[in-house]
Amino acid sequence: MKSILIIGGGIVGASCALRLQAAGVQSTLIDPGDPKRGASYGNAGHLGPEQVSPWSAWGNVLRAPRSSFGAGGPLDFRWTDVALWTPWSMRFLAACDPARFARGREALSALLEQSMPAWQRIADLVGKPEMVLPHGHFTAWMTPEGAERGLKAFAKANWGTSSYREASADELARYGGVLSRLPHAAVRFTGGGQVSDPQGAREAILASCAERGGEIVKDSATNVSAGPPARVTLASGAAREADAVLVSAGAWSGRVMAMLGVHAPVIGERGYHIQSPETNWPRDLPTTVFDEHFVVLSRFTSSLRATSFVEFGSPDAPGDERKWRRLQSRVAGLGVQFSPAPQRWVGSRPSLPDFVPAIGRLERAPNVLYAFGHAHLGLTEAPITSEVICALATGRAPAFDLAPFRVERFG
Ligand SMILES: Cc1cc2nc3c(=O)[nH]c(=O)nc-3n(C[C@H](O)[C@H](O)[C@H](O)COP(=O)(O)OP(=O)(O)OC[C@H]3O[C@@H](n4cnc5c(N)ncnc54)[C@H](O)[C@@H]3O)c2cc1C
Repeated sequence: MKSILIIGGGIVGASCALRLQAAGVQSTLIDPGDPKRGASYGNAGHLGPEQVSPWSAWGNVLRAPRSSFGAGGPLDFRWTDVALWTPWSMRFLAACDPARFARGREALSALLEQSMPAWQRIADLVGKPEMVLPHGHFTAWMTPEGAERGLKAFAKANWGTSSYREASADELARYGGVLSRLPHAAVRFTGGGQVSDPQGAREAILASCAERGGEIVKDSATNVSAGPPARVTLASGAAREADAVLVSAGAWSGRVMAMLGVHAPVIGERGYHIQSPETNWPRDLPTTVFDEHFVVLSRFTSSLRATSFVEFGSPDAPGDERKWRRLQSRVAGLGVQFSPAPQRWVGSRPSLPDFVPAIGRLERAPNVLYAFGHAHLGLTEAPITSEVICALATGRAPAFDLAPFRVERFG
């Protein structure tokens, strides 16, 4: 194919646009242009190749009551969006079947194994290798009971090709002056890391695509037809045509796929952040998950960000004040230096019921490609996804079997 229209310019669409443009496929990326709308703006910045287990697992179902927002946990459902998450939850429960879970883990392992090298390759392509900080991450426990429970669970879990070890006394001492007291215990993962700044990385990728002749159109797709040629109608009333189209609209991808007559049950799995430009968190102290607090703290180029929560609902709904307040009190409880009036954000992880992204080409319309549903791992998986999409678009074999990622699995 010579040309492609890409619907959605989060980190997944942006990475695909750059890879395709660099491979000689004239790319037009269509996105309304509000950088804060997508999950790619507000995530925790963690590159997590160790996260090979899908969230659709019976263990998570059994833990749900204890994990609920009402019980102090991160899990919540927007009651006004019950019509969205009820059918999604039915599919989620079906995906918890141990055989499906095992197949999902195999699929995620194949994708994640190449995720860090793919990040390094795209950072080199952009000319900013410093975008990737491969310094792993910590998970910390503040209490002896939390540490005992957490360490036991970690020892039983599958971490793919990544590994971890208990943090040394010197590593724990690095939290002195950053927290009001040192963690009781922590583990340090190797193999992953973080980006220096999620939005900065996305902007650099988009800029590199534009420098290579890629076009970025600030608009919204209101209709799509496969053709050929593929045709996208825009909210402004204009229309664009190209040999192919790629759907990469994050949590809105279900709506776009519906325009093509395809059912893709993506839900908004909403997460929250607060962010402080004032911080004494050292730049080289990696992303840290405070397991008992359900909070992830990440130091970016010019700020410290705390993220939390898993709230099922519409990606267009407003944020819940209580969640920002709780996040603020958790961060204060840890004794982290933070702005008293932090920046607040809510956004949606694009989640499919089996927590395996949809990546491939439509069987009944081969000029329709898709890449969405990356859930908790879209930042980590964007560059490897873009390599797979580029292989499909340029007639090369992808690096691994794409059968588990077919969108047709949802019927
Ligand atoms: C709180 C939180 C923390 C997270 N932490 C991490 C982490 O540490 N590591 C990690 O790997 N992942 C993390 N994630 C997940 C990750 O952020 C997402 O999986 C990823 O950003 C999804 O990228 P995307 O490009 O698919 O979607 P998005 O970033 O949501 O982008 C979709 C884009 O499509 C556009 N769009 C929608 N409809 C249309 C249309 N009709 N026409 C044109 N454009 C359209 C939207 O405006 C948006 O710009 C986190 C997510 C959250 C919410």
